[in-house]
Amino acid sequence: MFNLTPEQAERARKIHASSTVVDTHNDTILHLIKSPPFITSSAEAMPPRRMLGEKSEYGQIDIPRIKLGGVDCMLFAMYVSPQYSSRLLRLVQMLDKFQREVEVNNDTIKIATSYDEIIDTVKGGKIAAVITVEGGEPLEGKIESLRTIYRLGVRSLTLTHFPRNMLGDGSGADSGSHLTPFGREVVSEMNQLGMIVDISHLNETGFWDVIELTEDPVLATHSNCKALCSHHRNLTDDQIKALAESGGVINLSFCGGFILDGVGFNWEAVKKVTIEDWLDHLDHAVNLVGADYVGVGSDLDGGCGFPGLHDATCFPSLTEGMITRGYSDKDIEKILGANNLRVFKKVLK
Ligand SMILES: [Zn+2]
Repeated sequence: MFNLTPEQAERARKIHASSTVVDTHNDTILHLIKSPPFITSSAEAMPPRRMLGEKSEYGQIDIPRIKLGGVDCMLFAMYVSPQYSSRLLRLVQMLDKFQREVEVNNDTIKIATSYDEIIDTVKGGKIAAVITVEGGEPLEGKIESLRTIYRLGVRSLTLTHFPRNMLGDGSGADSGSHLTPFGREVVSEMNQLGMIVDISHLNETGFWDVIELTEDPVLATHSNCKALCSHHRNLTDDQIKALAESGGVINLSFCGGFILDGVGFNWEAVKKVTIEDWLDHLDHAVNLVGADYVGVGSDLDGGCGFPGLHDATCFPSLTEGMITRGYSDKDIEKILGANNLRVFKKVLK
């Protein structure tokens, strides 16, 4: 993909292999579970069910492709569509399904709930899977649900998805509202428990509430730079600076609609997005806050990806691309994973 010299190609291979590569967001569980992500979806529109351990020609992430891409740690998001009448039950089903898939593949993947477990798992040659929940809907407005899903192994919560929920406004339904009292309670309790607050999808007013409230670094697990693409899901320069000041990380997604203006979720338009466009977002964020606060959050299997970054096997292209943009070995290692590991070490107990 890139015109690297043999020396550069070897350097890329070495850095990628020696780095702990972290991807902070995917929606792979939606492809593993029997019931559809949206209950209104027709069965015909659904992709075929896949198994985590089997390389598929469909979708974007499975264990063989994670290994080919040299990815060491992945945050697996459980996204519960608000269309489910019992959202907590739906989350229980997703957690059960995911944990069973991990159990049958326990020679290659392990669920990790602490920084030490992540490091030990990766050192042992396995993929470290961190369970996250995308959208506060399954909490059903009860703080007991948060504590219970923590006990079940969930280590991060994306406060909202696109719509408004009981915690606050998603960026797709931004009325300018602050976090609700329940949303504030959730952020404080997450700090106490040792859960990572994820502000991707949250509206801007809610974002500033989180920044003011949180005692811990905050992650954007899959967001891009608004200065380069004006989509409401992206972060302004001021937001990226505040995230960095919290000690957190903006993890840049592979969502074409968040990378180039006018693309949206139009699959034809997504084809014109290139990895150079993604690297432009990386350069922008690094120029703004430095290389210590930027990472990778693919959102693969969540409707994202574009030619060149279309599945988990493509992660080495990120390293090659960073070399062509002049990044140092140290900075590449940070962006590939070390920055997120710093947050995991600080927040996860
Ligand atoms: Zn998302």
